[in-house]
Amino acid sequence: MLRITGGQRRETGADGEWVTRRIPGASATKVYRCPGCAQEIPTGMPHVVAWRPYGDGGDRRHWHSSCWDRRSHRAPRY
Ligand SMILES: [Zn+2]
Repeated sequence: MLRITGGQRRETGADGEWVTRRIPGASATKVYRCPGCAQEIPTGMPHVVAWRPYGDGGDRRHWHSSCWDRRSHRAPRY
């Protein structure tokens, strides 16, 4: 189930509800560690940021786009 709200979208998967935003490469100015594969996301790489729709956003995680798309088949490792 997808709902589009101003650049963010709401996704419901096997692991519950998430809000996601696609980060273009030009906006990826920091290195993050992807919780899907435990590898770094280098600067300049387009990726996905996801967080729970409730709470203060402190649970925000940056994912490789491919890891995010695959996560429904595999539980995420935090
Ligand atoms: Zn990854």
